[in-house]
Amino acid sequence: MTAIYEGGCVCGDVRYRVTGNPVIATVCHCKFCQKRTGSAFSQPVVFKVEQVEFSDGQRTIYEHRSDESHRWLRMEFCPRCGTTVAWRAERRPGTIGIAGGTFDDPNWVKIQRHIWTRSAQRWSRIPADLECFEKGSPT
Ligand SMILES: [Zn+2]
Ligand SMILES: [Zn+2]
Repeated sequence: MTAIYEGGCVCGDVRYRVTGNPVIATVCHCKFCQKRTGSAFSQPVVFKVEQVEFSDGQRTIYEHRSDESHRWLRMEFCPRCGTTVAWRAERRPGTIGIAGGTFDDPNWVKIQRHIWTRSAQRWSRIPADLECFEKGSPT
């Protein structure tokens, strides 16, 4: 049976449904993710575009340019409550990253790697049995 997972923003205007398992699930400790989430890290769960279906709720886009690669990231957030639910990245065409914390039940996600560990907050623990990268992941 194909897995189906649902989630959305905190106010409920933006909802999504994904079908099947992600291409990759990561924890990102980069400075951009720390700032934009107001937290220690983000949890990108990446799917192919055709796996993701959004409700009619409007999404506003904020484009960020990486100061390392100069490639764009387009963050998609709910204009009413501000929750970033998804994003697209120039370096990963044909995919959508879903913000792992926005799944109604986020516990199914299996994190495969931690990236940008060089800027990880000092108290955060990175499991020894996962792939870790000082900077972005090579693939
Ligand atoms: Zn909302
Ligand atoms: Zn990041």
